[in-house]
Amino acid sequence: MRTVFSESASLWRGLGKIEKSGLKIKEEFADFDAENKFYIDWDSGVDIAGCKCGEVLKGTMTPDKCPLFGKRCVPANPVGPCMVSSEGSCAAYYKYGER
Ligand code: SF4
Repeated sequence: MRTVFSESASLWRGLGKIEKSGLKIKEEFADFDAENKFYIDWDSGVDIAGCKCGEVLKGTMTPDKCPLFGKRCVPANPVGPCMVSSEGSCAAYYKYGER
């Protein structure tokens, strides 16, 4: 890992850019870097209207306080990333939390 990658700032949905939270392929391996091969505009990320994943992940809101929780956003039809996988905080809350 240390041979090929170096620490870099990374953009996290709902959290913004955090220094040294990601990995970037080193210049000597640039031929294998998908960011060089494909145009990826990291700064144009789409915020999902109404999704409160950022607040949930920061612990300032429980999933059930999201207005979409259990209504428009359910594990079978997730709106935000926190509901997508079974390990997602909203999906776990949906399965095990009190509603
Ligand atoms: S994943 Fe769904 S329930 Fe969780 S914060 Fe986003 S929209 Fe709300």
